[in-house]
Amino acid sequence: MLWQANNPTHIVFGERALKSQGSLLKGLGKRVLVVTGQGGSAQRNGAQDDVIKAFKSAGISKHAVFAEVEPNPSVHTLRRGAQAAQEIKADIIVAIGGGSPMDAAKGIAVLALEDLSEEALFELRYRKALPIVAVPTTAGTGSEVTGSAIISSPLYQNKKNIGGPLLYPRIAFLDPRYTYDNPRQLTLDTALDAYAHALESYLAFRSNPISDTYSLRSLGIMGECLHMLSEAREYTPKERERLLLGSLLSGLAISITGVSMPHGMSYPLTYNRDIPHGRALSYIIPAWMSWIMRVSRNQRMQNALRASGFNTLAEMEGLLRALGGVAPKLSEQEREQYLQLTLDSKNVFNGVVFPQREDVKALLDDIFQ
Ligand code: NAP
Ligand code: ZN
Repeated sequence: MLWQANNPTHIVFGERALKSQGSLLKGLGKRVLVVTGQGGSAQRNGAQDDVIKAFKSAGISKHAVFAEVEPNPSVHTLRRGAQAAQEIKADIIVAIGGGSPMDAAKGIAVLALEDLSEEALFELRYRKALPIVAVPTTAGTGSEVTGSAIISSPLYQNKKNIGGPLLYPRIAFLDPRYTYDNPRQLTLDTALDAYAHALESYLAFRSNPISDTYSLRSLGIMGECLHMLSEAREYTPKERERLLLGSLLSGLAISITGVSMPHGMSYPLTYNRDIPHGRALSYIIPAWMSWIMRVSRNQRMQNALRASGFNTLAEMEGLLRALGGVAPKLSEQEREQYLQLTLDSKNVFNGVVFPQREDVKALLDDIFQ
């Protein structure tokens, strides 16, 4: 079997990561556009202050803040961000926040240099991007170490990936302190996302020995974390650090393999029903795994369950439901529409088993009817 693994992101992990290693920013650029969410969390959790202090130590003379990224960012937001980048002639983009600001920053890094139509952007017809630095403040997406950026597209009426090798952050600064104030619901939704990444990577057609090393380790960590999260209480700094580590390892795993059917199936649900990404995945994962078990004797299913501390699929399903809740009912028309959108996403064919149209339809009916 021929396989490859290449992740170019320099990772700095631990408390005060920016304070101790901020000088790594030296030489990347002189004028920075800082991209954050619209809710102000980057200011409240201290990440934005730390980033700006690091600019001083790295000799960065000019910066502006674009604080307009909404959850599940749209192409329109990317365009406004690109304009802000052009106004200060930014030569580097620094993202602070969850997956939404990090993904938006990747799109802004492209559109600041090239004025592309929405179609051209989603067909990945870009040739350059500004360097990106990522500072995650949630523990789930792993976007700080992936070349992916999932953007809401009015044209395609769905969330779609504009990712490619140019979009890997140059540096990821992961400081668990920025996640301490994640509210419970956000903590659950993002942990479910990280768990799904580990599972989908381990069960991906493109998995290889390096991605397996990341995904199995993350299944262990995230499995423990999901059990811990069933207790509604304050989590300790050590526990927050474990969540961030699991998310990072899952991100590294999917940076090699990509994600598969659950992600492809979840995007229409988030686009149309505004259901947070990780929660949407939790509705889909158990039925998807049960389908794989029925149609294949793949040993990896048992390995994945065991690695994350479950004896049976039913046990896993019970915990995911306790954390993510119950899937909404969708009309026949909605299910038909989501079927086509799921089949249109390339992810759907990246699992250990290739689905037929009827398989995807049966899964959608099973989960959402
Ligand atoms: P998010 O959409 O970035 O943020 C959700 C909410 O959490 C926002 O209101 C945000 O507020 C808030 N928040 C962020 N950090 C916080 C903190 N430290 N304390 C309190 N609140 C905080 O959430 P996410 O789950 O991290 O990202 C989801 C997005 O990532 C989706 O669009 C998904 O498709 C994408 N994703 C990308 C990848 C990839 O590889 N590129 C992988 C998985 C998912 P603010 O407005 O203040 O930021
Ligand atoms: Zn995800």
